[in-house]
Amino acid sequence: MKKYTPFRQACQILFLITCLLIGYEFYQFVTPLEQGTLPRVSRPPGVEAFLPISALVSLKYFLVTGIINQVHPSALVILCLVLITALGVKKGFCSWVCPVGFLSELLWRLRPGQLKRVVIPGIADWGLRSLKYFILLFFLFTILWQMNSAALGQFIHSAYHIVADIKMLRFFTHMSGTAAAVLAGLVVLSFIFPYFWCRYLCPYGALAGLISFLSPVKVRRNASSCTDCGRCNRACPSRIRISRAAVVRSDECFGCGRCAEACPEPDTLALSLPVRSGKVPGAAVAGFVLIVFLGGSLLARTAGIWHNQVPDRVYLAAMLETDLIEPDRIKNMDELIQNLDRRGKRILMMKMMNPPEKQ
Ligand code: SF4
Ligand code: SF4
Repeated sequence: MKKYTPFRQACQILFLITCLLIGYEFYQFVTPLEQGTLPRVSRPPGVEAFLPISALVSLKYFLVTGIINQVHPSALVILCLVLITALGVKKGFCSWVCPVGFLSELLWRLRPGQLKRVVIPGIADWGLRSLKYFILLFFLFTILWQMNSAALGQFIHSAYHIVADIKMLRFFTHMSGTAAAVLAGLVVLSFIFPYFWCRYLCPYGALAGLISFLSPVKVRRNASSCTDCGRCNRACPSRIRISRAAVVRSDECFGCGRCAEACPEPDTLALSLPVRSGKVPGAAVAGFVLIVFLGGSLLARTAGIWHNQVPDRVYLAAMLETDLIEPDRIKNMDELIQNLDRRGKRILMMKMMNPPEKQ
């Protein structure tokens, strides 16, 4: 009954493998485009899980126009699935689904023995935890508040937005020295401070944390059988003082169930619903997140809002416009010209007439 970790790890591995497969398929889609050739594989829509800004723009666009944009529709679908997960099982998205959360957890577990856990004291920790809310606030203010429907439409159909997924891939395949240094810094910080990215910086986690206040599933403690041993507190990756609370309402609760697993007393601590016998076992949490993500994506597919409606030729034109295709590096120019639509040919002509200055 108290087992959460095996189910959680199974979910994490499943979603990580799914992300790696999506990444590989997307790489196969992008590589020919970079050479001006039309790809033989179709673009995997799941790649839009990594476009949270696009998802927020799409959300506002949908709210003001009632239209789901056809450039990156699954970004919005996936944002909704994250929010549904947070409504159901606290920040379960972070600890049961998100590959970055899984990697953060792995880094912490596999840290070199010499590196000791550093506990940031109360007020400094609070200040650092607020950072992710400031980042979220910045995006919410800029997108939900400041952008009107004309600006949203312009952004959605811009070349920059069309290739946002390709730019994200190139962040890894053409990594700059600065990006590599920042990533290396995050890895080192994750060794020292558990879940550094998730705890202090991730705006997706901040959004899930806010929504999670509404989740009926919470960690509940039975004070009459609790011996105040403190094992739950020590097991909690979010450093929540569980042994002081009847119900853990914290926005930092990952719904990971580690505290319940650590509790030696029967029927004392569990993820549960606010009803008698409402315990939520690990298998139920796993079933819930799988149903939300697999069922949600299948529903979106059926409704025609999973795959985008951007033809490969439009991708080619957008890549030319954003310099993701450099004409002087194309081996088969005839094939590129043949594959371009009229707009793409116009952009190509401009690029040939005004080649960018080489540094
Ligand atoms: S309170 Fe329990 S379920 Fe929540 S993060 Fe801490 S250990 Fe995980
Ligand atoms: S581990 Fe269980 S018994 Fe110990 S303090 Fe936490 S809830 Fe109480």
